[in-house]
Amino acid sequence: MGSSTAVKQDRLWQRHADMAKLGGTPKGGVNRQALSAEDAAARNLLASWAKARGFAVFTDAIGNLFVTRAGTDAAALPVMSGSHMDSQPTGGRFDGMYGVLAAFEALEALEDSGAKTRRPVMAVAWTNEEGSRFQPGAMGSAVFAGAYKLDEMLAQTDWKGVVLKDALAETLKAAPAPMRDGPPGFKVAGYVEAHIEQGPRLENEQKTIGVVTAIQGSRRYIVTIEGEEAHAGTTPRAARKDAYAAATRIATAMYEATTDKDDTLRFTIGRVEVSPGSPNTVPGKAVFTIDMRHPDNDALASYEAKLYEIARTKAVPCPAGIERVTNVAPTYFDKAVIDMVRSAANTLKLSNMDMPSGAGHDAMHIAKLCPSGMIFVPCERGISHNEIENAAPEDLAAGTKVLVEVLEALANR
Ligand SMILES: [Zn+2]
Repeated sequence: MGSSTAVKQDRLWQRHADMAKLGGTPKGGVNRQALSAEDAAARNLLASWAKARGFAVFTDAIGNLFVTRAGTDAAALPVMSGSHMDSQPTGGRFDGMYGVLAAFEALEALEDSGAKTRRPVMAVAWTNEEGSRFQPGAMGSAVFAGAYKLDEMLAQTDWKGVVLKDALAETLKAAPAPMRDGPPGFKVAGYVEAHIEQGPRLENEQKTIGVVTAIQGSRRYIVTIEGEEAHAGTTPRAARKDAYAAATRIATAMYEATTDKDDTLRFTIGRVEVSPGSPNTVPGKAVFTIDMRHPDNDALASYEAKLYEIARTKAVPCPAGIERVTNVAPTYFDKAVIDMVRSAANTLKLSNMDMPSGAGHDAMHIAKLCPSGMIFVPCERGISHNEIENAAPEDLAAGTKVLVEVLEALANR
């Protein structure tokens, strides 16, 4: 076993408590939105801890914040771990922050045990993962990975009209850190992100560690059904082209077609609009959204084919049009990293299970750059994006121990 024995549960828990004060809400959560004064305060606190341990700190042009513990081979590519410090407006204290603090604890554990690693080990706090103030989310990691263009992201505005570039400049003025020259992004030898599960599976199955194999893909559609407006009192059934009735037939058939026995597919109709929206007029038009998520791209494609078939046959006599508005492919994590996470959990005698991630994470972008993986720990009742989000100190420490073992192995690979 490596440096995981040096992980200090109390120190890690106290750091969560200290960070939770920055943007703390009365219900015990946080409102620490991207590039806010609270975000700047969190950056300063992390940087102060880093300096106290003699770790180098720098930032990049999209505001990602890096903490480095040097390796013995100056030319070797670093291994990296982290997540995000921004939150939803009514967010919890563990979403994202756990991944940053677990990474920082890993650096401290390596330091405390006097471990020498060939590669540098870095902790990172990615800018704007939540995407609640500035769109899109997972911005810092996406720019780092080259998935989004820096200039386009700097031009984004929040709902008050504040330009991201200005908010970033203000944040970096309040939380100064040495700036790395050039566009964001550099070569990395491996990336592992720890995160609370944000779902109930680990708790339900009484497992401590989720060995994350993939991040599920998602496809979103807008279904538009054209009917014919008619008098609600006089029009016989056979003469009606009721757009809403057609929409319900499609919806019912889809709910049925998407009921898989292992409950993997996520199928949601979240918005329905019926027009003209008059109680005594047969609806002439119905528009609704479909959101489907699954870790297997082929499965998504086959459910999509079912949707087209059902829309064609069930909407009669109303024509139904389908527009696919998003298609995000699943992320498959690196097999070797997945194996390392599982075997570290087993070595540490921590109960574990393989699972895909239901939510998106920064790791989905970094996985395109280097061998990557994720470690999940349980959160109470699976509740997240909520001020009452909670996790157990011993679970947070357990996930961090796994992280230390994997990072140390990657850093000597
Ligand atoms: Zn998160």
